Amino acid sequence: MKYFPIFADLEAAHVLVVGGGEQATQKVRLLLKTDAQITVVAESVTDELQELEDTNAIWIVLRTFLVRDLEGQRLVYAATGDRALDAQVSRAARARGIPVNVVDAPELSTFIMPAIVDRAPVTVAIGTEGAAPVLAREIKSRLETWLPANFGRLAERAQALRGVVARSVPEPRARRRLWERLLNGSFRRAILRGAEVDAARILASELQGGDAPAMGHVVLIGCGPGDPDLLTLKAVQHLQEADVLVVDRLVNPAILEYARRDAERIFVGKTPRGPATSQAEINRILVREASAGKIVARLKGGDPFIFGRAAEEMAALQAAGIGVEVVPGVTAAHACAARVGLPVTLRERVRQFSVVTGATADGAPDLDWQALALPAAAFAVYMGVGNAPLLRGELLGAGADPQTPVVIVENGTRTDERAFATTLADLTDCVADQGITGPAVIFVGLDWDSAGVCRPQAVTVHRRRRQPAKDGAHADLTANTEATP
Ligand code: SAH
Repeated sequence: MKYFPIFADLEAAHVLVVGGGEQATQKVRLLLKTDAQITVVAESVTDELQELEDTNAIWIVLRTFLVRDLEGQRLVYAATGDRALDAQVSRAARARGIPVNVVDAPELSTFIMPAIVDRAPVTVAIGTEGAAPVLAREIKSRLETWLPANFGRLAERAQALRGVVARSVPEPRARRRLWERLLNGSFRRAILRGAEVDAARILASELQGGDAPAMGHVVLIGCGPGDPDLLTLKAVQHLQEADVLVVDRLVNPAILEYARRDAERIFVGKTPRGPATSQAEINRILVREASAGKIVARLKGGDPFIFGRAAEEMAALQAAGIGVEVVPGVTAAHACAARVGLPVTLRERVRQFSVVTGATADGAPDLDWQALALPAAAFAVYMGVGNAPLLRGELLGAGADPQTPVVIVENGTRTDERAFATTLADLTDCVADQGITGPAVIFVGLDWDSAGVCRPQAVTVHRRRRQPAKDGAHADLTANTEATP
């Protein structure tokens, strides 16, 4: 180990940054995380540095570096962009025994800067002694995703509690066990999810002997349309904490890999018109599991609040006095639109975009067909494949243009994804001829041409070939599909 990691106390310390360009600004940004008194010496500075001086966050001296600038400094950074000047700063600092860092010049530095993961007061510093900064960045980004945003808050609370805990539990071994319970158990989870009131209640019960039954809760997690890479960091963190997973049919099994291996799994899949766990039964399961003190992750496809029956589950849990949190997910329409490069709003042209359901418990949805049939209407139909003939009929009946563009994305973001471009007139044929049966989003009133962008190769164009009949009208012949050129 050539470089030895240490953490420098910069509270009220003076730190000098020589240089006023982008690299110097980057150093100042980092230093601003501390309480150091920062002085910048440079002949000119970036706007950002100037603004920082205007708010008294730093002090700027607009001239070239003088050796006397080093007086009273705890640390020195040289980032002038002028190697000779940097070397001069470095020599002068070393002569006075002040630690110095010269940007991109370890040979001129007496310390180097690590990659930092900041969950202050928890700080992770990663160094490769300059060998491979890319590797340090890789480690940093892994830790950034792994450490919850509120991790620092947990450490802060632990710090604040040290006195109370020491007084309440004088015996060292019992005290250590209490700390383990607090920092690994339900207190930790409450802090991490920002539930300070719950945390205070758990703490009070732990301090009084800790035998109060643990409180369970439910997290409704939006798991996106299938591709696990579309999970949010928050979703992954909650998956890793859950004791029980209550899983919908539309959740890609690959996503379960992100949960703890020993978490219990309850599948409550609802296949359209197939055997199903009723919503009432699902609600009962959620209440039962959380009441037993477990952390329940309720995994839903897409976003929980879009055709996800989140309201019923939340209401049932609230009625039972059980805490419930919602983690948003990428909804199918957004993911599918992204997959086929189809913007869902356009400046000046598409000012409204709706999501509608193509199916209801008793079959046909009761939608405002007149509004949806307007030329400017743009919308995504969820659960619409089974009712494609009805959708087509209602929209045409309400006066929609038969040539209205329609785009269908089936199994979006999954390995078996397929996408089709057709028209409202040909919607039913497209669904039937292409055998579209999987979960699909049907976009109506959106196309690539009006957005001025290219239709991706992977989208299949489906049109019925029409030929003039003898009487001059158009007659449908066979369905024709063509791959996009
Ligand atoms: N809460 C979910 C929607 C659940 S309703 C969300 O926000 O995405 C179920 C419907 O979602 C399906 O019938 C289909 O219309 C759509 N859907 C879900 N996953 C899909 C996928 N991977 N590709 C296309 N559509 C999908």
